[in-house]
Formats: sequence, C-alpha cells, structure tokens
Amino acid sequence: MFDKQDNKKQAINTKRNKVSYPELMTHCDTLDLGTNAFIQWLSSKDKKSATTNNPIILKEFVNNKYSMLYDINLGHYVIVETHDGVPRCRTCNADDCGHVGFSICLKQKYDNDGNIFD
Ligand SMILES: [Zn+2]
Repeated sequence: MFDKQDNKKQAINTKRNKVSYPELMTHCDTLDLGTNAFIQWLSSKDKKSATTNNPIILKEFVNNKYSMLYDINLGHYVIVETHDGVPRCRTCNADDCGHVGFSICLKQKYDNDGNIFD
C-alpha cells in the first residue's frame, strides 16, 4: 500500500525583469549631456560630494561670471566663464560642451529660484 503523491507542477514565472540602465555617461561633450548631468545632479542627495554618481558636480557658481564644476570623468575642475551672458568653457574651449549645458541649466535655476543650493 502506498500513497500516490501528486506532483503539482508549479508554474514558475520566469519573468525577466531586465533592468536596462541608461548608459553611463562617459563624456560630457554635448549640451544635452550637460543637461542630463544637471538633472542627475539636481536630483541627487549629496550635491557637493564626488562620491556620488554624478558626472558633473558644481563647486562654485557666481551669477553672470563663472561656474566652477568638477568633472568626474575628466578628474579635474572645469571653469565655465560667462561673458555678456554667453557661457564658454575654458577647459574645452567651446561654447557647446556638456559643461556649458550644465552651466546654462544652473543659470536657469538661479534665475527661477534665486539660488542654486536649496
Ligand atoms: Zn567643457
């Protein structure tokens, strides 16, 4: 005498939750990347630390004069100067790099909110 055990076939859900990370930015060489970096920076908890994943960190902002950024990927500071309201990156010697994009966003935030670090 033996009991027949029903082997219940368990339907195993093999849902693939593939998390697709947005590709980590390695170069901030376009205005759009600078904008993305700014949004990322703005939403991060620690805005002044280089330990975050932010590709660009703001070190100093002086309205209509310059902003000093720290580019994690470059590993050094970057200064974006503003002359007559037009920002220009001293490091890249360009007005359309990511640092300039970042600075434009900073300026917009400053104009809207009256401050950068709130
Ligand atoms: Zn630059």
